[in-house]
Amino acid sequence: MVDELVEEALVWCSQHGLVVGDKNHPRSGKAPGVGLLHAPFSLLPMSFPRVYWDQALELAPLFNELVDRVSLDGEFLQQTLARTKQVDFFTRRLLDIHSEMMKLNKHENIRLGLTRSDYMVDGATNSLLQVELNTISTSSNGLACGVSELHRNLVRMHERDLGLEKASVMGNTAIAQHAEALARAWEEYNNQSAVVLVVVQAEERYMYDQYWITVAMKEIYPLSFAYGSLDKQKIHKKKLNKARVIINSEGELRPDGTLLVNGRPVAVVYFRAGYSPSDYPSETEWRARQLIERSSATKCPSISYHLVGTKKIQQELAKENVLERFLDNKTDIEKVRKCFAGLWSLEDDNVVMSAIESPELFVLKPQREGGGNNIYGDDLRNTLVRLRRYDSEELAAYILMQRIFPPASPCYLVREGVCARDNAVSEFGIFGAYLRNKDRVIINNQCGYLMRTKAASLNEGGVVTGYAFLNSIFLT
Ligand code: ADP
Ligand code: MG
Ligand code: MG
Repeated sequence: MVDELVEEALVWCSQHGLVVGDKNHPRSGKAPGVGLLHAPFSLLPMSFPRVYWDQALELAPLFNELVDRVSLDGEFLQQTLARTKQVDFFTRRLLDIHSEMMKLNKHENIRLGLTRSDYMVDGATNSLLQVELNTISTSSNGLACGVSELHRNLVRMHERDLGLEKASVMGNTAIAQHAEALARAWEEYNNQSAVVLVVVQAEERYMYDQYWITVAMKEIYPLSFAYGSLDKQKIHKKKLNKARVIINSEGELRPDGTLLVNGRPVAVVYFRAGYSPSDYPSETEWRARQLIERSSATKCPSISYHLVGTKKIQQELAKENVLERFLDNKTDIEKVRKCFAGLWSLEDDNVVMSAIESPELFVLKPQREGGGNNIYGDDLRNTLVRLRRYDSEELAAYILMQRIFPPASPCYLVREGVCARDNAVSEFGIFGAYLRNKDRVIINNQCGYLMRTKAASLNEGGVVTGYAFLNSIFLT
């Protein structure tokens, strides 16, 4: 039975675009249509308690609004990240752009956030705790929709054997809603000839996840698209360095703030890159990011939204009385606070000592995105001992977080055509969309979900990074 299901699932993935580039194929990340592999997936959907689902849905618009409020407090962002800035070059570059915008007194009227708030269920307390809030390059919206369709189909074909109903598998609206938010932002810009600029990495094995959204946007409006990466990709048919395109002849900033690319005004810049230092191999990319920021295009995300998503800001928001600065409603504040795990700055020596004593109870996090950057176990202890011995300023580059232990259960997990049974834990994300123009909030919604399942023995998660498997849920 399992073998039959696996084969059916693999055929379905191949026929419906639940695919990623195969790292063993040299061109798989550079060109579409070559070197495809099915995305790693869990063979069957997993049960998920309705209370957590309801809770995460309720939190989504609150976090969207929180991001917006915090983004408007430039001093708060600068101050909170000031020590980190001294020791982390990437955060420093982002903050430099941010402070330049503050000096220019630049205000974003149209603000668009495509977010994802990630959670794990803490087995010890039976509570839903936030892992992190993503504000830049929020990915997997395409593949998450695909896996829930995959599961619906398997269940439809085997309802009786599986004891599940097709309708019980939660559908996913992430792509439709994120595409709509981008299209609405384009509409707000109010220029029919304007384009959406999608910023991608030159090499991206996750490109099929991104195509879901650009294709969906084109279906909503006959928009024009310009694709480009922060280094060597093309815009339209010109093989040009995108960063150069933007700051040289093909791209320019008009005195009125209009960003032109290939002579077309840009209404929205959608970043699916730019979250990692490797996206900025030279000064050219930094200048492009800065030029985009100075323009009147709607940035998804703006530099402020990007900074709100850092781990350091997450930790600061968890301190006493900080949420109160940004949210008015007491009940909302309580709801948000309830999902915060223990988060500490490394200035707190008591916590650092506890983490050295029991590293298995903590996660050490630098200011990075994209998975694979956190430090666990013995490495965590050794890092802290080293930093503490030299009384290093570098401590400010990190935060400490309570390690969450979700309940584990056996799962069939499929990667590279091979199915293995493993004891697995899951991370549950809710996508969000937020769009406003000055005082008018146009969209503030939850937008579908991402369920990722991984072997309980692993530390990190993440599908792109090769740790986790896509999954869907049915509510219990
Ligand atoms: P990134 O921005 O790189 O995705 P995350 O904070 O989401 O950073 O951490 C990456 C992965 O590490 C998560 O997907 C999760 O699997 C694991 N992780 C992060 N924080 C915790 C935690 N507090 N407890 C348990 N696992 C965690
Ligand atoms: Mg992240
Ligand atoms: Mg994450």
